Amino acid sequence: MAQNRDSILVVGSGVAGLSASMSLARQGYNCILVEKAGSLGGHAAGYTCKAINGKCQKCGACLVDDLLARFGDFPEIQVFLETRIDRIERKKKGFTASLNGKYGLKDINCGAILLATGFKPFDPNEKSNLCFSSIPNMITAVELEAMLRDKELPYRPSDGRQPETIAFVQCVGSRDPKRGHPYCSQVCCGYALRMAGRLRDLAPKTKITFFFMDIQTFGRSFSQRWASLQQDFIWINEIPGDYFVSDGDRVGVSVEVEDEIVDLSFDMMVLSVGMTPTDDQLTYQQMLDLSMSSEGFMLPDEDRGVFVVGSASGPMSIEKSITDAAGSATRVIAYMEGAR
Ligand SMILES: Cc1cc2nc3c(=O)[nH]c(=O)nc-3n(C[C@H](O)[C@H](O)[C@H](O)COP(=O)(O)OP(=O)(O)OC[C@H]3O[C@@H](n4cnc5c(N)ncnc54)[C@H](O)[C@@H]3O)c2cc1C
Ligand code: SF4
Ligand code: SF4
Repeated sequence: MAQNRDSILVVGSGVAGLSASMSLARQGYNCILVEKAGSLGGHAAGYTCKAINGKCQKCGACLVDDLLARFGDFPEIQVFLETRIDRIERKKKGFTASLNGKYGLKDINCGAILLATGFKPFDPNEKSNLCFSSIPNMITAVELEAMLRDKELPYRPSDGRQPETIAFVQCVGSRDPKRGHPYCSQVCCGYALRMAGRLRDLAPKTKITFFFMDIQTFGRSFSQRWASLQQDFIWINEIPGDYFVSDGDRVGVSVEVEDEIVDLSFDMMVLSVGMTPTDDQLTYQQMLDLSMSSEGFMLPDEDRGVFVVGSASGPMSIEKSITDAAGSATRVIAYMEGAR
């Protein structure tokens, strides 16, 4: 395949990178897709189906499987797995990028760059009051997604036992100006409620409590389902201040309920972690002289051939990342046509 300034470099193969490169290939453009991991699909490839009693909950997790199933139809997309970009140089026309990875070192030329480098789930170790590393049965929602995908049932990391009581803590690492994440991550109310519904479907006797500030019901279909989900769980409109190990291996919290501080404990706790910028983002900002949004994510420089798609530009759902990337492909093509 020719690698010239008419090729487009796509960095990151999550749903956004897959969707963008397939849209561009459909329009006859050669794409070079660079992925630092060993497989395609990004975060969504690790999520579970949240259907309840066989009924789809529109979580979007299987959209990545659809994209991957169609990906093989596009020989115009050249994939470099386990590869990173060491350097990018602007040329009179287009860019030269130095790839470094499992296929060795390689310089490629391209006419435009799409950054689809995604997000990083908030690391709970950044919030010391959570005591995340010292409470064995406290896990993140990313870990619960993987647990349900692999084993189809929740289990406690400490003893493999199925938990009878589970608490979800919302807004972990979001709406937190002190830690530089003042924004709402948009997806965690939806994914947590759907996972809780799925847990109840798998183990109907499980008691599930939500600690929350307020619930974002993005999307019309979700607002309708939210009304019925409210009855299924216990709701505490407060985020606990202190977290500790209780009764040997339970997760304890101190929380204000009706003007009183009370201690509660659960078999297992799930932190609904938010979406934050990736560690690599700074490197790309510097290499390509990009600015940051008020939320701390990358801003594009489309007039100079640099596009930012999907959650690399800010928190968004799987479905929105796919449509955002497909929409950006139209602007990339306009840029490429103009640059000819
Ligand atoms: C716990 C959790 C659960 C969620 N559940 C849902 C859900 O049920 N439904 C929903 O709609 N949304 C959900 N989301 C949001 C969803 O994960 C995102 O919408 C989606 O993953 C965004 O896709 P993306 O392609 O933009 O980014 P990502 O999925 O982050 O993909 C980015 C890709 O780029 C690669 N990459 C990064 N940096 C580089 C680099 N420097 N060089 C090369 N490659 C690089 C990464 O390895 C990755 O493959 C959830 C989020 C969290 C935190
Ligand atoms: S959208 Fe979600 S709930 Fe529906 S089938 Fe796909 S993975 Fe399952
Ligand atoms: S989506 Fe829900 S849990 Fe996530 S930050 Fe917004 S309000 Fe908090």
